[in-house]
Amino acid sequence: MLKGKVAIITGGTRGIGYETSKLFAQNGAQVILFGSREETVNKALEELKKDNISNVEGYYPNLNNYEEIENLFTSIKEKYGHIDILINNAGISASKPIEDTSLDEFNRIMNINVNAMFCTTKAIIPFMKENNGGCILNTSSMVSLYGQPSGVGYPASKFAVNGFTKSLARELGKYNIRVNAVAPGITNTDMVSNLPKEVIEPLIRTIPLGRIGEPIDVANAFLYLASDMANYVTGTILSVDGAARS
Ligand code: NAD
Repeated sequence: MLKGKVAIITGGTRGIGYETSKLFAQNGAQVILFGSREETVNKALEELKKDNISNVEGYYPNLNNYEEIENLFTSIKEKYGHIDILINNAGISASKPIEDTSLDEFNRIMNINVNAMFCTTKAIIPFMKENNGGCILNTSSMVSLYGQPSGVGYPASKFAVNGFTKSLARELGKYNIRVNAVAPGITNTDMVSNLPKEVIEPLIRTIPLGRIGEPIDVANAFLYLASDMANYVTGTILSVDGAARS
């Protein structure tokens, strides 16, 4: 479904980003995954090699450093000739009550979940314009629709992801650049593996499909949105949450 496409995926070393990198590579894309550290990037590439997937390479840029990102995108474009897809997936969550949250902690969430998305997106646009089109995908969350009872920085950041997605879809449509987001419900990754059974089990009971999501469920939604099957889809926030309503 992605033969000949070049895709950059942030937060590609584990969880949703890893599964999406793998699925995109299996569907013919050249994938460039980004992680936060050399060790985790190498580990992800080794895992993929074990599955005979070699059309993936990895980097670990500072996603908040616009110049570093711009230079890296320039070298990727020089190597592959074009960049077609960007997935802004790297993210961190929060669960503490606001009174126990420092401004630094709040800023940390905004820096990775929102400001990094701004840097990578702004930097990719010239390459996509030059290419007469492209596809930008963002990882939002179910909490961008309903909020959450504690850890306000996380839903605040994901509401921002939705606003960014919908607005840029309108701004960039004239360049044939589509901008969409996927809003996963609770998904089986490191982000939720620390939650105790007493928290997870009652949550599962509220999900009509009777289970939490798997990374592949989200990766499949990204694959559809990145493919030519979604050529007329832009500005949408696609829920992949088993109809959970938190
Ligand atoms: P994860 O913790 O397994 O993966 C997070 C990824 O983000 C990792 O690859 C990590 O290297 C990267 N990352 C984190 N901080 C970074 C930084 N400062 N610089 C560069 N990279 C950084 O989590 P996941 O569940 O796979 O999360 C991926 C996305 O999905 C996030 O945006 C998250 O908010 C969203 N999401 C997750 C769930 C869930 O239940 N797991 C639900 C809704 C949305």
